[in-house]
Amino acid sequence: MGSVTSAFITGIGGQDGSYLAEQLLADGIEVHGLARSTDDLELVPSGAVVHVGDVSDVLGVRRLLVELAPDQIYNLAALSSVAASWTEADLNISINAAAAAGLIETAWQVQEQRGHSVAFVQPSSAEIFGNPATTPQDEQTPIAPVNPYGAAKAFAHHMVGVYRSRGLHASSLVLYNHESPRRPMQFVTRKITATVAAIAQGTATDLVLGNTAARRDWGWAPDYVDAMVRAATQSEADDYVIATGRSHSVLDFVAAAFDRVGIADWQGLVRSDPALVRPVDAVELCGDPSKARTRLGWSPTVSFVELVQAMVDHDLELLR
Ligand code: GDP
Repeated sequence: MGSVTSAFITGIGGQDGSYLAEQLLADGIEVHGLARSTDDLELVPSGAVVHVGDVSDVLGVRRLLVELAPDQIYNLAALSSVAASWTEADLNISINAAAAAGLIETAWQVQEQRGHSVAFVQPSSAEIFGNPATTPQDEQTPIAPVNPYGAAKAFAHHMVGVYRSRGLHASSLVLYNHESPRRPMQFVTRKITATVAAIAQGTATDLVLGNTAARRDWGWAPDYVDAMVRAATQSEADDYVIATGRSHSVLDFVAAAFDRVGIADWQGLVRSDPALVRPVDAVELCGDPSKARTRLGWSPTVSFVELVQAMVDHDLELLR
């Protein structure tokens, strides 16, 4: 890739979009982003230029991008809740699959019309592997989603391959769960850290969860954003699994969170609600990041315990 001077990020207001904008601005890159509304901007760093719009308005976004002609496009706008995808599968497919396909075509058209190479990065998800037969999963693991979110992400992942064979520098990063204090409350990690902090402060009495035996490979969101930048600037585009290589159960996460606030006798404070258990839920998702390590020089910088502690500390701070 030639030298990068500008980038465009859909979903700039979210956890990943905001961390990515910070990293790119620090690298001296001009950053433009798309956000759904001006209410969505508290995480966006000053210095990024925000355009208000919806990724499902494919033609509107295309007009904007043909004019801006960025060197890199990161498609971070997504409906990210697996649980919600069961009740709104159509919406999930329109954003996570159809709008992604429209944006990839836009990247291609920018490249054709402006005559410079455009790097496209699609964050995919471990959910494309469904309930995989082998652990850990890698780039060769069969794609077999078991929920609407995974199916939509699998489609976008395939479209990246289609456009790569057409000549676009398009990479799909199969991201395992990645967390931070910016994670919204509908994810189990943030729900746990916010509730445990509230219990420690005396403002909540119990923690109600679904399937606490589920095992996930939880990493630190800024590391995952860094992997995207590395993929975009490689000489060849490719697909990569981005993960820590270690899984923990939801209950392990709960234990580490209570440990951080010094509550040893927490078992009686945690309840299970069958309504929070999903129709189908992967038992364990754990990724093998060997290819990313070798080819991108990428490795996780924050351990599981450090991640839990950073999130609990942030939630305690918010309550003070
Ligand atoms: P996901 O892996 O992208 O769906 O991320 P989540 O943080 O939403 O869920 C991670 C795992 O935690 C899944 O296996 C869920 O079934 C499990 N889980 C258990 N209790 C809860 C809960 O109360 N809320 C959420 N969101 N997930 C839960």
